[in-house]
Amino acid sequence: MMEDFNSETDSDYTSYWRDWFVSSRGNEYFCEIDEDYLTDRFNLTGLNTEVPYYQYALDLVTDVFDLDADDDLREQIEKSARHLYGLVHARYIVTTRGLAKMLDKYKKCDFGKCPRVVCEGHPLLPMGQFDLPNMSTVKLYCPKCEDIYNPKSSRHASIDGAYFGTSFHSILFQVYPALNPEKSMRRYEPKIYGFKVHAAAALARWQDGWREDLHWRLAEFDMTHKFIEESESEEDGFDYAEEPEGAKVDKVVAETASGRMDLGK
Ligand SMILES: [Zn+2]
Repeated sequence: MMEDFNSETDSDYTSYWRDWFVSSRGNEYFCEIDEDYLTDRFNLTGLNTEVPYYQYALDLVTDVFDLDADDDLREQIEKSARHLYGLVHARYIVTTRGLAKMLDKYKKCDFGKCPRVVCEGHPLLPMGQFDLPNMSTVKLYCPKCEDIYNPKSSRHASIDGAYFGTSFHSILFQVYPALNPEKSMRRYEPKIYGFKVHAAAALARWQDGWREDLHWRLAEFDMTHKFIEESESEEDGFDYAEEPEGAKVDKVVAETASGRMDLGK
């Protein structure tokens, strides 16, 4: 993108709206977009059809707004200005200057810390699941466990994910590869009185799945098959057609809940 790396400072009186916006409560995820970037029409391509009252909104964001508007219209324009700022923000944060600003915020933990215990409070990065607005709200990406989380605060949870986009967090680590945290094999292992249950439970589920699958395949050839446990209680072996879909799921859940892990057998 076109950028002027020498223009570090914006003149004070032209950054009022942006100052106000990025310092408002709930807007902590946003960085301040350089004025040069905002006033370069090239960077705003296509946004005029996306944002209502586009020109007024842009004037407001760049602080040259000069219109006698009633409160209703002002509010509309204010809303448009926030939307415009968000959409430009998504483009800005993947530029060299934007990445550097977001990196600063990441290092300061402005986006919060990973709630996963094994990640030990690793800093998060904001991201969108879509690049189009009004699809989904902002999520937080943990580069350590490579998973995404919902923001804790409801103020943040309502921000559009498109204001950060789907690629920013990945581009950041492409540009700053040294920042990529070491990945860990560590994971939480459930135990009952010191005995690991996770592997045994997973194996049991896998075996149950295979057994069901085999029954289905045998049934296709009109072959019925019984296990010792089933022969006394049921008459005709397996007849899956009689068992409603929900009941089967309930059974599995119940078995899992009852800790059917064959510990010590
Ligand atoms: Zn994590």
